[in-house]
Amino acid sequence: MKCTLCGKEIEITFLGKLKGNYVKTNGKVYTVCASCFRSNKDEIRTKVNK
Ligand SMILES: [Zn+2]
Repeated sequence: MKCTLCGKEIEITFLGKLKGNYVKTNGKVYTVCASCFRSNKDEIRTKVNK
């Protein structure tokens, strides 16, 4: 899985969980890495809506 914002590969833990966050917008689900999620929380929706 790649981060929607920075394009970096998001790691998956040994439990199979994504080390990132899912963002739901317009019925679509985007994956965002943890650092982008923290720093760009408010920008995520405008960016993915492009
Ligand atoms: Zn990112």
